[in-house]
Amino acid sequence: MRDMSITVAIDIGGTHIRVAAYEPDSIKPIAQTRARSLANQPGVFDRLVHAIESIWPQQKVDAIGIASPGPLDPHTGTILETPNIKEWTNFPVGPKITEHFGVPVYLDNDANMAGLAEWQFGAGKGHHDLVYLTISTGIGGGVITNNHLLQGFRGMGAELGHMIVDPNGPPCGCGHNGHIESFSSGTAIARYVNEQLKAGQKSTLQAQPVVTTVQIAEAALQGDALACSAFERAAHYLGIAVANYLAIFDPSILVFGGGVSQVGDLLFKPFEASLREHVFHPHYLDNLVITKAALGDDAGLLGALALARSMGVV
Ligand SMILES: [Zn+2]
Repeated sequence: MRDMSITVAIDIGGTHIRVAAYEPDSIKPIAQTRARSLANQPGVFDRLVHAIESIWPQQKVDAIGIASPGPLDPHTGTILETPNIKEWTNFPVGPKITEHFGVPVYLDNDANMAGLAEWQFGAGKGHHDLVYLTISTGIGGGVITNNHLLQGFRGMGAELGHMIVDPNGPPCGCGHNGHIESFSSGTAIARYVNEQLKAGQKSTLQAQPVVTTVQIAEAALQGDALACSAFERAAHYLGIAVANYLAIFDPSILVFGGGVSQVGDLLFKPFEASLREHVFHPHYLDNLVITKAALGDDAGLLGALALARSMGVV
């Protein structure tokens, strides 16, 4: 007799909380909802509980998985601090949800969960060693090594966005200098363009508080030299970071998610050149698959589902 108990998956984001319920072996939700996080207003936890209750199924729920921004401690289910949700400093979201619903809760950061999902259900299916990078306003990463999600002793492994590629580089979102996120994220690319414009470099782009990656990509496709150089610079450092990841993890596939990855060749052509230049040994590149993520916005949710299912197996 098949166990038909249900798994609930949750993706907590700065703007939305998504909750969905799944039957075994399916990644099509039987119920789902999306609520606004209103992250800077009190009561995020109550909104989360309310969203879960609104889709709670009649059948038995055996586990809940949560993808959340970090840093966090997956071993204790505690969010250490998260820039968007100020009231969740050292917040034991896992134990509190367990207390409320009487079901075990498994938590990990959103980039790890997206990497896990791409491996189980998406672009990395069938591979045993995968490195996932999401490049958007920040850079996050997840690593599958020998068919296991790398979490680390403290659960803080695979923070790929905070790899130092130049200690004298610009400030990162985390406050330290020269992390790959401070060179190659969408925020970093836009900041570089603004700085160059203010320094008097000619371009079809105008200095403004928010130059988007899409605007810079459009200018680059029209041949704008500054826009092209902004992607080349980001790609140069990305190649250095990924050369380091190859030396540590030796994956068979690199999966790129996030909005900035959508620019395609503008970033990936110079990235591949930089990777070839910086990789420790060319053998790392033999049969290395470099591909885009397949799951889009569902990656966090599906990763939380995969985590809960894998941890729920006794
Ligand atoms: Zn950083």
